[in-house]
Amino acid sequence: MKIRLSYGTAVKMGLHRGKMLAEPTTAYVMLGEKCESNCAFCAQRRDSRKENYLSRIIWPEYPVEVLKEIKGFSRICFQTLDYEEVVDDLLAILPIIPYIPVSVSIVPIPREDIVKLKNAGVQIISIALDAANEEIFTRVKGSGVSNRFTWKGHWNALRDAVSIFGTANTHLIVGLGESDEDLVDVMLYLKKENITTALFSFTPVQGGAQPDVGRYRAIQLARFLIYRGYEDFLELADGKISKIRVPEREKESVERGLPFLTSGCPGCNRPFYNERPGGVIYNYPRKMYEKEIKEALEQLRNYSKLVF
Ligand code: SF4
Repeated sequence: MKIRLSYGTAVKMGLHRGKMLAEPTTAYVMLGEKCESNCAFCAQRRDSRKENYLSRIIWPEYPVEVLKEIKGFSRICFQTLDYEEVVDDLLAILPIIPYIPVSVSIVPIPREDIVKLKNAGVQIISIALDAANEEIFTRVKGSGVSNRFTWKGHWNALRDAVSIFGTANTHLIVGLGESDEDLVDVMLYLKKENITTALFSFTPVQGGAQPDVGRYRAIQLARFLIYRGYEDFLELADGKISKIRVPEREKESVERGLPFLTSGCPGCNRPFYNERPGGVIYNYPRKMYEKEIKEALEQLRNYSKLVF
């Protein structure tokens, strides 16, 4: 069986010569040769496949056996394409890897398959909603792109995962045409359902633009505070975040830049998934420098009023 490793993962494992601008703390493994789905924002979609890419990342191919020796990562994340044998392939691979916490990012699968993955040692399952509301979901990920996925089906699968694992993870993309209010509402709801959120910025594979960085900072801060348990800390005007009040107890974390780091499973930093080297960094894959924190807060202030 063949797998693909993200460029940074392959370099860190010594399988590929190259430079790493930031070391991945999680090993990213892509599984599957051909995706049966056609999500509008994805480089691996059925109608326009850029074989070696997922988001901005290059994924060289390796035999699965390279995973037997894997070390030095705090997690392995299997980013699976949508194909029929995906669960069987995962069940064949999981026993060969040494003990490292495993996340699996996958399309909705039957409940009994989620149980099988849990029994095989998967720690976290992630089912990406990507879109912040049903209408956008249908347009970019559902019937609008001839996919079988539905908003309801994804939520049912997430709830199945929570009932089996106690929690689940989802991915949300900022910049698909949603409002800030959509994102805030869906994150509040996800939090209540015990589902964690990994934020991504829309990264055009053809056409479209990345979101305004100030807006992204406001959504990052909102996500951070929502998952710290706060609900009433922001004001909206016409669906846009107009003001964020940082609770006294969170001031220090914000001043350390924690809301602007990559969000997701513990130990996941996804370097350069959404960024061009030298360009705007949406998700910081490492501790931020003071200058970067100042800049991020400035970007945020250009978008929303920030009250400490
Ligand atoms: S948050 Fe990171 S480790 Fe978790 S599923 Fe997403 S990419 Fe994988």
